[in-house]
Amino acid sequence: MSTWEDLKGSLYAAGRDMSQKAKEVSEIAKLKMDIHAKEDFVEKQYAILGKAYYEENKDNANEKDVEQFRVITEAIEEIYRMKQQVLDIQGVIQCPNCGKKVPQDNCFCSACGAKLDEIIVDGTVVSEEVVEEPEYTEEL
Ligand SMILES: [Zn+2]
Repeated sequence: MSTWEDLKGSLYAAGRDMSQKAKEVSEIAKLKMDIHAKEDFVEKQYAILGKAYYEENKDNANEKDVEQFRVITEAIEEIYRMKQQVLDIQGVIQCPNCGKKVPQDNCFCSACGAKLDEIIVDGTVVSEEVVEEPEYTEEL
């Protein structure tokens, strides 16, 4: 056998091996990306299912779920409080009708015209409690 033919043949084989390897590597990379995307998708579906389950059963939780429900409810309430803090710092309130941020001392929403003496608790509009000003007798 001529060495030239040998060389050509083995180079060809090596080249084919390399392109085969490269193909496998990119195939694996693509599959791993697809697997990751599908895993993300499944996680999101779990979250949707869990949220629906929570919404459905939060007022009537099974004994085995009570603790988990409590943790979620507390976290949601804390998120709400922190959002209110942000609004307070910004000196605005969120319009219960359109969600637009308007200055705290506005009586009506500048965007939709809704009356603003209402506050929202857990997504339900309730009238703002009348807070009685404590009477101070000024001591002179
Ligand atoms: Zn509005």
